[in-house]
Amino acid sequence: MIEVKNILHSLAVDHYNRIIRSAIKRTTRDRKHYVDDRLTNKIISDNKKINRFLRTLKDDILINDANTGENIITAKPENLHKYVTKYNQGFGESFLTSKSTKDILEHILYYESYEHWNADLFAAKLNIDTCLYCNRQYIQSFNKSGKRKRTLEFDHFYCRNQFPYLALSFYNLIPSCHTCNSTFKGKKVFTINSNLHPYREGFSNEVKFSILPKKIGFINGISSDYELKFIFKNEKSAFSKRAKKNIQIFHLRNLYKEHKDVIDEIIMKSQIYNKAYISALYGSYAGTLFSSPADAVRLVTSNYTDIDNLHKRPLAKLTRDISKELKLI
Ligand SMILES: [Zn+2]
Repeated sequence: MIEVKNILHSLAVDHYNRIIRSAIKRTTRDRKHYVDDRLTNKIISDNKKINRFLRTLKDDILINDANTGENIITAKPENLHKYVTKYNQGFGESFLTSKSTKDILEHILYYESYEHWNADLFAAKLNIDTCLYCNRQYIQSFNKSGKRKRTLEFDHFYCRNQFPYLALSFYNLIPSCHTCNSTFKGKKVFTINSNLHPYREGFSNEVKFSILPKKIGFINGISSDYELKFIFKNEKSAFSKRAKKNIQIFHLRNLYKEHKDVIDEIIMKSQIYNKAYISALYGSYAGTLFSSPADAVRLVTSNYTDIDNLHKRPLAKLTRDISKELKLI
């Protein structure tokens, strides 16, 4: 679990404007008319509850919250749950997840139907290179014969099945790989209170990979004997409880055991290099091969190891933790 805390809120505002702009361009009318069209005029219902629901949703899209300055599309991760509470209390779970309500919401909030929704552009602007849930797969958007293709998927942190009114919310769209999004998470219910949200919190220094106690036998050609574990800074904390849920759902404990070759290489490097060696290496090529000490560390570890760049390459968090544990860096 990699956290990306420096996401620019301007991207959320841009996302909002792109969605809302579709019809404004067509009709030259204002935002309010557009939302009116989508939420009321095009959907004729004599059901009072549905009408109340649509009015509420319209207000939550158009009117920014007085305290946060956000709306349901731009609400930050910690504020998404406010809408969950509001809609559950106001309308009840059975209404919100009923087929008729979902059909209406699919029409309104199905993002592919928005002319200016551009998932590829959205992905490119986010500039996130690996799945934030597993940090095992690259997620990318690329050009093929003039068309954009993606290996990236957007997971709905609050799933569309249970929380359809958050389907377009910027901070509810998590860049992830197909395995984490579809195979492992699917329709499982995640909330900010029960799981780690990558735009808010990740394993960071609270949850680390560890191989201690270890036996290193490479020098004699004997393979190393260790068990890869997660260690928690505070095992009993609410954070650790959330982290454990993510570890379980994305099968991280078992999957990472399959990366023994990478760990073996870090062990070997720890026998060859140390901080002083890397520092001397940097000194020899500073200003030529290396623009900063981090470049020398990256060359030796074959990965990004500073906390802000872990999303740039698969297994970066594993590399950081084991390299630090073995005092390679
Ligand atoms: Zn993944």
